[in-house]
Amino acid sequence: MQSQMQRRVKPGLPRRREWHARGVDGTDGDHGGGPLAALAEVRAWIDAARAVTVLTGAGISTDSGIPDFRGPQGVWTKDPQAEKQSHISYYLSDPEVRKARWQRLLATRDDRREPNVGHRALVHLERRGKLHTLITQNVDGLHQAAGSSPERVVEVHGTVREVACLDCGERAPMERALARVEAGEEDPPCRTCGGILKSATISFGQGLVPEDLRRAELAAQSCDLMLAVGSTLSVYPVAEVVPIAKHAGARVVIVNAEPTAMDPIADAVLQGQIADILPPLVRMDG
Ligand SMILES: [Zn+2]
Repeated sequence: MQSQMQRRVKPGLPRRREWHARGVDGTDGDHGGGPLAALAEVRAWIDAARAVTVLTGAGISTDSGIPDFRGPQGVWTKDPQAEKQSHISYYLSDPEVRKARWQRLLATRDDRREPNVGHRALVHLERRGKLHTLITQNVDGLHQAAGSSPERVVEVHGTVREVACLDCGERAPMERALARVEAGEEDPPCRTCGGILKSATISFGQGLVPEDLRRAELAAQSCDLMLAVGSTLSVYPVAEVVPIAKHAGARVVIVNAEPTAMDPIADAVLQGQIADILPPLVRMDG
């Protein structure tokens, strides 16, 4: 709450104490011109980049009120049982788990989550002609809602905006399934084959979509700057795109509130609030 207020009071460039930066040589930015100098340097890298591939995680959506899972206050950090129950085997074997899931989806349907300034900053990056691909671990659809081109977004963990049949693979809008739940179907089956329907998100125990992974990998190999935002970079195979980009010769820039697993291979780490760092980084501030 307090950080929200601080942001409102002082928008624009972040204050020195709220975040720190680390340069290529591994030294703390505070000893070499401060975080503002590091931000200016990364901004120049982006200016010079031809193709920026961005990877986003839960951290970019927390400002929109969507809880993260693995952060210090994450849903699964605080309740490991909830993580267990999101395993696909529970969903497949227990109708009660499915009914509860549909009820939860129905109850949260009208929580109209709005994209925040972090999402908008990445739209700005695309409008500048810099964005190659936006890989996201998030399932909330907020990048597209903010205005990112759907064809540039790879949702490696799926989306809650659609449902998928676990038997025949048919997809349909989430809204249509929720209308059926609302009308009394506690566990609506697939209308085509009668199979089990689930939100089109990747649960534990479910494989990622090979085509999405391939696109993410290609985007990592094809960029000259990899910008990782709001991800702990500890979930594989998605986090792998960072070293892939690095090995392909791209610069790696990490923006996150906490240290990440990939900080050691980054060319720059900007640690702090995404809403403070991202807009000036992409020159959304003019
Ligand atoms: Zn089906």
